[in-house]
Amino acid sequence: MKLPIFAANWKMNHGPTDARAFVKSFLAHYPRQQDRKVVFFPNALSVTTVAEAVRDRPDLAVGVQNIHFEDKGAFTGENSAPMARDAGATHVLVGHSERRHVFGESDAAAGQKVQAALRAGLTPVLCVGELLAEREAGETEAVVLRQLRAGVAGLEAPQVAGMLFAYEPVWAIGTGRTATPADANAVHVAIRAALREAIGERAMGVPILYGGSVSRSNAPLLLAEEEIDGVLVGGASLDADGWNAIVRA
Ligand code: PEP
Repeated sequence: MKLPIFAANWKMNHGPTDARAFVKSFLAHYPRQQDRKVVFFPNALSVTTVAEAVRDRPDLAVGVQNIHFEDKGAFTGENSAPMARDAGATHVLVGHSERRHVFGESDAAAGQKVQAALRAGLTPVLCVGELLAEREAGETEAVVLRQLRAGVAGLEAPQVAGMLFAYEPVWAIGTGRTATPADANAVHVAIRAALREAIGERAMGVPILYGGSVSRSNAPLLLAEEEIDGVLVGGASLDADGWNAIVRA
């Protein structure tokens, strides 16, 4: 059985001091849970702080929001997968919509980053999602599956089976607009089918998260859908009490 996954993408918020205070407050009200997993994605400067704070909690994990696809070298300002591992991360977001649409990251670059993550022993969370214009043009499935296939190109089935995926419609991120649970689930069904085509029955065990203006009120409705295995949350994960309410959904 897949454990539901609650992933917090803090984006460019909570430096080390705030991150330490957040985790202290969160842990005070969130005893160890056997039936769900929580993954924090702080900014790179706060990863070690959060990783150290949750070290004794196997139900909690830490990831980075981005990596470079090279392991080291002259790439000023970048962080590599082995460095993220060394800092205490076990997961990495790849192809988040802000990386794709604010920083111009291509489908192919996301694929290179997935490979770099796997080389370093990090679990990639490959994010896919369509723009509003693409949805309105009826291209949602085509866009999402194109991003998905580029993200896993060249991988062996066991590698894909060890990944996480997140469907995040771009028009729903940070806008307060959420896909209806049924609409989100329909895209998850298409993602599952594409994974099944690629890696067979192992696809059934691969977690597919939903992200896009998830809140404490809509999280239970989204998680009630058959193919939604967890949530990836931005804005509503920034407050320790609010996040606590969501992960208890
Ligand atoms: C995100 O950053 O992945 C996200 C889904 O943000 P928000 O929850 O704020 O829409």
